[in-house]
Amino acid sequence: QRIGVVAESTAGETRVAATPSTVRGILALGYRVVVDSGAGTASGFTDEAYTEAGAETGDAWAADVVLKVNAPSAAELARLRDGAVLIGLLAPAQRPELLAALAERPVTALALDAVPRISRAQSMDVLSSMANIAGYRAVIEAAHVFGRFFTGQVTAAGKVPPAKVLVAGVGVAGLAAIGAASSLGAVVRATDPRPEVADQVRSLGGEYLAVDVAQEASTDGYAKATSADYDRAAAELYHAQARDVDIVVTTALIPGRPAPRLLTAADVAAMKPGSVVVDMAAAQGGNVEGTVAGRTVVTGNGVTLIGYTDLASRLPAQASQLFGTNLVNLLKLLTPGHDGRLVLDFEDVVQRAVTVVRAGEVTWPPPPVAVS
Ligand code: NAD
Repeated sequence: QRIGVVAESTAGETRVAATPSTVRGILALGYRVVVDSGAGTASGFTDEAYTEAGAETGDAWAADVVLKVNAPSAAELARLRDGAVLIGLLAPAQRPELLAALAERPVTALALDAVPRISRAQSMDVLSSMANIAGYRAVIEAAHVFGRFFTGQVTAAGKVPPAKVLVAGVGVAGLAAIGAASSLGAVVRATDPRPEVADQVRSLGGEYLAVDVAQEASTDGYAKATSADYDRAAAELYHAQARDVDIVVTTALIPGRPAPRLLTAADVAAMKPGSVVVDMAAAQGGNVEGTVAGRTVVTGNGVTLIGYTDLASRLPAQASQLFGTNLVNLLKLLTPGHDGRLVLDFEDVVQRAVTVVRAGEVTWPPPPVAVS
């Protein structure tokens, strides 16, 4: 079968679903690969690099299996051939109308954002690989806007104090942000309702700030909404930290809900001029009052609020490489014979979970999967 790597049409998207090196991985599974001309340009991969890796250039939408980063537009959907398999970030929980449109065609759609959180599927977990990149980049964006050193220095010209960074939410993105900020030399603090992350925070050089209100434990690897008691105690912590720190990176999310509000406008108003907040939850409504998704806002007291929603796309070559590798790992699972033939096994929990449309029928949501 032929696998197509299509050019992304979403404004500002710089990633591509396969790089020359991941194309080699797809070829090794027995497929042929066709790449849209220019598909890799924005992430620094030329057509020649793809052809040297063994791909052809041509109409990737005409392939049997289409690999894509973002969900397709209506016009793109019309270009899928009958019987095709589309694989990409399809946001099935948020986009029922897209699933309905897909199901009007005799096609199959696999949503990369529906990979279950079980150990066996970790190598295919695009959300985690992108969150890791985004957390790193959030710190780089903050450092770029912050007009001072992150690391403390003692020089002949005087002493420079280290920057203080607070990371709120210690999931994959939060851990990457803690690692990046401490490797730049900042003093890093982090908080999360899940106390089990404390050791991870410390191992990356950070200090864990606990909110001493017991939380219901998670049963599925995802965070639960916090209680009103917890939120009251956390609000005090945030207000005290806002007055003290220079940089805040917020990453708090609860699956299927709007982002929890962590910092109010009063907290932001209490921050020092020149401080920077990166709200990584801006696309889900924001953790910080006043952030605008996709934009940078400077408040009256001189605090920069960064609401970029494309943090992973700001490191396009590596984001594409990790995304592409996650896809190759999924294709390995889908190609049991290593013979260039995609076979979907609905008895397998991972394959069942990612399949949101099968041959014109909506198959989302899947039955629940137990974490392992
Ligand atoms: P996420 O993006 O869903 O949420 C980010 C963080 O926000 C979480 O740590 C969550 O606890 C925190 N949070 C929620 N409400 C908050 C609040 N009110 N205040 C502060 N923080 C709040 O998280 P994630 O990056 O997907 O990771 C969540 C967990 O799942 C982590 O322990 C991670 O290691 C684990 N995980 C496991 C797998 C797997 O395959 N086994 C894959 C990905 C993630």
